[in-house]
Amino acid sequence: MSRKVIIAGNWKMNKTAAEAKALVEELKPLVANLDADVVVCPTFTSLTAAVDAAAGSNVKVGAQNIHWAENGAFTGEISAEMLKEIGVEYVIIGHSERRQYFGETDATVNQRLKAALAAELTVMVCVGELLEEREGGLTEQVLGTQLRGGLADLSQQDMAQVVIAYEPVWAIGTGKTATPEMAEETHAYVRKVLVDLFGSETAETVRIQYGGSMKPGNSAELVGQVNIDGGLIGGASLKADSFAELIKNAVS
Ligand code: PEP
Repeated sequence: MSRKVIIAGNWKMNKTAAEAKALVEELKPLVANLDADVVVCPTFTSLTAAVDAAAGSNVKVGAQNIHWAENGAFTGEISAEMLKEIGVEYVIIGHSERRQYFGETDATVNQRLKAALAAELTVMVCVGELLEEREGGLTEQVLGTQLRGGLADLSQQDMAQVVIAYEPVWAIGTGKTATPEMAEETHAYVRKVLVDLFGSETAETVRIQYGGSMKPGNSAELVGQVNIDGGLIGGASLKADSFAELIKNAVS
């Protein structure tokens, strides 16, 4: 089964609108001929600038979060429809920083995911274990719980709009990367859970990104693994040349 590589840059709370525009402009020609879905995820205030700059190119734009309600008294929040209206096509949900700092749970991941699907956004759902959980032999248990909770009530059809981002929390922004073998073993487990939930035919079509200190120097080996279908990239996505190099190596 061949799954198209998907590489997304999570810019986190970086890049003003002017900087986002400049970065997308620089990135476009560098990735124009690469056989991958290329996504950039700026902050909310830079989304329109990124969408405008990416127009007509193969660079797509995603947000870093959404609220689950369509509208209402939720001060400071943004709905899926609001993003859809300005040309956003993807959204990251359940990033470990949102789980750690903003009280995100598997239940709220599931609510946000359903709202994103209703607005026809493609969702990158993040899962991943803490260092102490890996060291305690709990990785599979933690991932199983996050996946079953986050993906609760979804249909096989819904999964066409879902990408799973496996991000070991201990590898995010730390320079520590899971070895390709370790990452592959965990990705294979994620796919096994997807088989349990949605059947093997659907599970084989779902793309699973790796995230955690992926760089130009390790993207080829990581994405070369059978069950690793791309990456969710933090630090190395903030410069056009390193991000493009990482993608080029991943699809090579
Ligand atoms: C991330 O934040 O999702 C991430 C993978 O960050 P980094 O690439 O910097 O480790």
